[in-house]
Amino acid sequence: MKPRVKILATLGPSSGDFETVKKMIREGASGFRINYAHGDSKAWDLYVKMVRDASAELGVTVSIIGDLPGPQVRSGDFEEFSVKRGDQVRLEHASAGSGSKTIPIAVRELFAILEPGDVVLYGDGEVSLRVLSIDEHSSTLLALNDGVVKPRKKIVVQGKEINLPMLSGRDMELLNHAVSNQLTYVALSYVRSPRDIELVKNLLRNKSFKPGIIAKIETRPAYLNLREIAELADAVLVARGDLGLHFPLEEVPLIQKNIVAVANSLGKPSIVATQVMESMIDNPRPSRSDVVDVYNSVYDMVDAVMLTNETAVGKYPVETVKWARRVIETAESRQDPVIAQRSRRMGGGLREKYAYGLLSLAESLNAKILVYTKGNTVPPLISKHRPLVPVYVGSSSKTIAEALTIYYGLTPIVLGDSGGDMDYEKGVEELYRVARERRLVDIGDVVVKAYVKSGTGVHEIIIEEVK
Ligand code: PGA
Ligand code: MN
Repeated sequence: MKPRVKILATLGPSSGDFETVKKMIREGASGFRINYAHGDSKAWDLYVKMVRDASAELGVTVSIIGDLPGPQVRSGDFEEFSVKRGDQVRLEHASAGSGSKTIPIAVRELFAILEPGDVVLYGDGEVSLRVLSIDEHSSTLLALNDGVVKPRKKIVVQGKEINLPMLSGRDMELLNHAVSNQLTYVALSYVRSPRDIELVKNLLRNKSFKPGIIAKIETRPAYLNLREIAELADAVLVARGDLGLHFPLEEVPLIQKNIVAVANSLGKPSIVATQVMESMIDNPRPSRSDVVDVYNSVYDMVDAVMLTNETAVGKYPVETVKWARRVIETAESRQDPVIAQRSRRMGGGLREKYAYGLLSLAESLNAKILVYTKGNTVPPLISKHRPLVPVYVGSSSKTIAEALTIYYGLTPIVLGDSGGDMDYEKGVEELYRVARERRLVDIGDVVVKAYVKSGTGVHEIIIEEVK
């Protein structure tokens, strides 16, 4: 049985080759992130091709997520330097650096919000700096700890938002790259309000292909507006890296639980990212705390965990996926069914009650669910109620099948190669045929075939023993 919690992996120099991508899929990766903050279109195009080729060769549907950098401030290029606590460091409005202990920053807006006393976090917080003085084009800061200041790193001013538009001209180009390559999702970094999601939706309105939208929750305003953002987005991502810079670190665990719970109550998938298997960047085995973290994320009932640096620049990308899977499978096998029930509240309209009933029925029969979909309304409702039995979703649409790869407990299967839709009756039988062929269901299994015929109001459930 496949793990119900999905594993997504970020591509990068360590994993950007065909064999590694294939191995990661075999070990259980169901989607890949391209981080547009690094690399260029040549590299991204290659990643897209590799994932698509690997997916076709292995016959496994996988998604691709293009992660837009959004309104963030990064330092420019300069020679890295080390600082000691008490040293003075300069920030300078420039694209590339000169001068000792000087960090070039191309974004002018940063200098507009800095005030003496502000604490600036550099990178993932490796170096904290306090602002001593500021003028229009530069600022002098005091290092609060020893550390190394490396080029092209993120800069966050604690407790403040830098007033930048949601998408820069470059983000627009990246969005177009995602559209023209038909990526499954775009992830939006540093979302602040529902309007940021609306803006991107409007930009996608007249495009012939519309990637789904994953809202990365990583700023204070995003967390405050969580419900409204999750309602508009297709999925949310718990971006623990930036959350840990914008909030006290010790609040991150509760923030994770809240984001996952709110998303689940709205039927939107949630993804937990950053330092998921951090210890595996340099080691073939994870630390105890990483294992406990992933195990606990399964208990939080997330839809997916996303591996970031571990698979992008780590030494053991394949082993990292393998370990994530091992921990998830163990957590799921030991999981008290009561935990799954937490996310089950009989509510919504007939369709949601149907999904709930379908699940209760299948679980009481210990049956496998086969659901055929055209409009993709039923599968997310099944996932929302956290199924404990396998759920195979058949769709004639590659786009729908890919979108479902980030959902809890669903295994999407693309049917037929015509791309056209079948009748529901034929569709569910075709899914059954393919599931038997792939030995996903076998003699003696009980299956529950299901579909909701849009337009007619028929909510079908067929129970069958495989002979
Ligand atoms: P990033 O997002 O890696 O693009 O910064 C994830 C995070 O902030 O956790
Ligand atoms: Mn981030």
